[in-house]
Amino acid sequence: MRAEVITIGDELLSGSAKFLDTNSVYIAQALHRVGVDVLYRTTVGDHEGRIVEVLRIAAARVNLIVTTGGLGPTVDDRTRQAVAAATGRALVFHQALLDQIAARFKRFGVRMSENNRQQAYLPEGAIPIENPVGTAPCFIVEDGDNVIVSLPGVPSEMTYLMTHTVMPYLIDRFALSGVIKTRILRTAGMGESQLDALIGDLMKLDNPIVGVAAHPGQTDIRVTATAASEAEADALIASVEQTIRERVARYIFGVEDDTLEDVLIDGLRRRGLAVATVEAGTGRALAALLGSLNGVSAVVCAADAYDSTPALCAILERGGAPDDLEALARHAADWVRRGHGAAIGLAVVSTPDDAEDAPGGVGGTAIAAVADWGVRVRRYGFGGHQGNAPDWVPTHALAMAWHLLMDKDAAP
Ligand code: ATP
Ligand code: MG
Repeated sequence: MRAEVITIGDELLSGSAKFLDTNSVYIAQALHRVGVDVLYRTTVGDHEGRIVEVLRIAAARVNLIVTTGGLGPTVDDRTRQAVAAATGRALVFHQALLDQIAARFKRFGVRMSENNRQQAYLPEGAIPIENPVGTAPCFIVEDGDNVIVSLPGVPSEMTYLMTHTVMPYLIDRFALSGVIKTRILRTAGMGESQLDALIGDLMKLDNPIVGVAAHPGQTDIRVTATAASEAEADALIASVEQTIRERVARYIFGVEDDTLEDVLIDGLRRRGLAVATVEAGTGRALAALLGSLNGVSAVVCAADAYDSTPALCAILERGGAPDDLEALARHAADWVRRGHGAAIGLAVVSTPDDAEDAPGGVGGTAIAAVADWGVRVRRYGFGGHQGNAPDWVPTHALAMAWHLLMDKDAAP
């Protein structure tokens, strides 16, 4: 298979060291890895007629053309029009693409401009490529024996789409000799920014590429390798995985589709231990999660739930409103573990921001895990939105219990 990479953008022709064409280097390497011969790399400015010209020349001498840039919403972004013209197609409006673009703007709280409508037009018959990391939809045009893949100019978007969509498509479509493998390391107790500080340098690698995906209370580290064989992909992933583990080992609770609850329950069972939980003001979120684990009652002694912190305080005979949520959580965790004879007591107490009895007039959520060998306790602000607590709390609580269990192994 013979390919040409066409990078599009006036800035790339300026000669400025600020605008080096790194996209074509990346794409050439990725294609070489799966046995595609890159015969030409061409750079052209943001000019529709010239883009059409280089596309026609390329179409006559290779089968696969990969372009980057010129997919933005402004008038100088001409790639869509040029690909349509070079392949003799009309531009067709895709409502679904516009909906995706609009949804993305909404998520970021930014107003979509009328120009963005332009981005929902693709050459007739094009296969749309969803772009979850940017707003510009990209596409593939299969034109006779030729395939044209058009990607964004922003390097981080381009590399993401190459790895996740374009390479799998090419390998499948042309039965190329490559494999793409992804390994997921699952972490809890550490935010995306903290991860960034610890493994940010690895996120700049070309192969394997390392990315993170955040979920409420936990973050996945994804390591994806493209290689000629499975063994080679495994080796690429293994070396980076080892480096990641050296840096953030204590936060990694599992791999692939492991869940915190499974890992915690399994860890308890193997040690013959049990956990008892109590929560208040969380909408019984933790009990609901643990209650869904059938057949683990021997390990999870109890999941007590109360509607509010005052209700829990009454049970604990601590008077009305808590003055200190962390102290309350710690007390409740110890109480529930003793009450049920469990090794670990886990408590979550949450008070809404607008509660009259919120301590000091401020809402908050505190989680505590208590065992003979240690105590962990932490207060969470949820950016001032206690309403988020039910979504986040179960994961944070299970992560804390798991960390406390790991503390036991580390203890002398
Ligand atoms: P898109 O197709 O993503 O909308 P665009 O052409 O509209 O791209 P630009 O604003 O021109 O977007 O480019 C986005 C960024 O990507 C700029 O910082 C630009 O320098 C960079 N870029 C574009 N092409 C390349 C390339 N070939 N190599 C490296 N960086 C590039
Ligand atoms: Mg551009």
